[in-house]
Amino acid sequence: MQVFFRGFKSKTISSQLKDGFTLNDFLLAAQQAMDFATLEETRGVRYAVVNKVLDIKHESVFATQKHLITKDCVIVVMVRLLGGSSLSETLDTIAKQELFIEMEKVPTSVKTSQKLFKTPVYIATLQALEDEKQLLQNIDCQRCVDCQAMMVNESMTSQQVCPLCDREFCFFCSRVWNPLKMQNVYNSCGNECVYETMLTFSLTPFCSRPDMMIPTHRTCPQCFNLGAYDGKCKYHTCQVCKFTFCFLCLKTKGKCEDQSAYDNRCVQTPVMQDYTMFPRLLNPGLQS
Ligand SMILES: [Zn+2]
Ligand SMILES: [Zn+2]
Ligand SMILES: [Zn+2]
Ligand SMILES: [Zn+2]
Repeated sequence: MQVFFRGFKSKTISSQLKDGFTLNDFLLAAQQAMDFATLEETRGVRYAVVNKVLDIKHESVFATQKHLITKDCVIVVMVRLLGGSSLSETLDTIAKQELFIEMEKVPTSVKTSQKLFKTPVYIATLQALEDEKQLLQNIDCQRCVDCQAMMVNESMTSQQVCPLCDREFCFFCSRVWNPLKMQNVYNSCGNECVYETMLTFSLTPFCSRPDMMIPTHRTCPQCFNLGAYDGKCKYHTCQVCKFTFCFLCLKTKGKCEDQSAYDNRCVQTPVMQDYTMFPRLLNPGLQS
């Protein structure tokens, strides 16, 4: 069956796997598609399918994941980093670039034809962009803003160097590493870094009772979109996923209302959120 590897520099490469393929067959296909010189190099990256990372170290685990690898699926190849910013713009830019490249391949006379959108590689590329968007929701996944490599952070520390282009950056906010302003710690560079900002807030007086303080911002517990206090109600409806929750206790509106009135203090101090709320591609046990 045909599968696609999503390689570095956002390249989509078609490959073949026979029925009943083994881990070894998979690695050989990966090596060929990625043009890796050795099997060691092939084993030195991570492979993600439908937001799951494949275990290429253990044949028995791999066997239980094989059903994820289906005809025409996209396998995203990710660089391992052992030592933020919204990327949807970057993704759109890539989509446009690739469309342009695809159009270049088509003779001018049929440029207007719908057919050009239907080449298998282009369809796989669109799928890959979706898959990558999903991967990037994980706190341990990021895309190098210089070389576009997909990366997975296995140490969860902020200071990282892209092994493909040598860019030194904060993994979580993608900014160039600045040793004067940034700290190499877990989950953040300590300088208004993306995820840290999502977990922190300042307090402002609640509109109908100024003695009660309410957070200015909160991250939606369901989709992780950042929302601001509307100056009225302690209940907030997320603009993205429409989840309605309390800015103080973070429970759903219904659950909070069971315990307290809409203008009452349901908790003494606002309930804190922490880094464990964000999804991760690698569960901590798999970091070997
Ligand atoms: Zn890079
Ligand atoms: Zn940062
Ligand atoms: Zn939401
Ligand atoms: Zn509440």
